[in-house]
Amino acid sequence: MDRTDFNKFDGLFWRTLALSLPKEGVASCFPDEPARLNRLIEVRWPHGPKCSNCGNTGISWIKSRSLFQCQQCRHQFSATSGTALHRSRLSLGIWFGATEAIIQYRNSSFIGEDMPAHALAQNFNMQYGSARRMRKIINAEIVRGDAGVLLPAIRVESEEDARF
Ligand SMILES: [Zn+2]
Repeated sequence: MDRTDFNKFDGLFWRTLALSLPKEGVASCFPDEPARLNRLIEVRWPHGPKCSNCGNTGISWIKSRSLFQCQQCRHQFSATSGTALHRSRLSLGIWFGATEAIIQYRNSSFIGEDMPAHALAQNFNMQYGSARRMRKIINAEIVRGDAGVLLPAIRVESEEDARF
């Protein structure tokens, strides 16, 4: 890690990130799994879902399986396929909430230190090992910024005007 990388994660970085989260909290902003799924889809495909196999935009939604199906090549894919959340058994509620919790923890800690895995495990009612794996994925998503899905999904600052 060079000096530039280090500076990227100083207090100001976490403060700016924390300020871009919904003031009423991520859970009030996206209160249930359908709302969170819609948010994820909107963030991944602002112009509508696109087939990850052939690029076609004619896509059907298979409600019973929560999968998209390409009308051209019949390829089936989920909203999380190809993302850091692919094949995760955790709900989007946990992913969204834990990302918010980690950002807030690092913003409020004096030197931006990482949230302890046992605290995450306790807050989200999960095993310590799962919390550690989840934290690793979330931290990698934070580094990816807008190229990932978790940060764009829970950040709302640019929509402030539209929502009020
Ligand atoms: Zn296709």
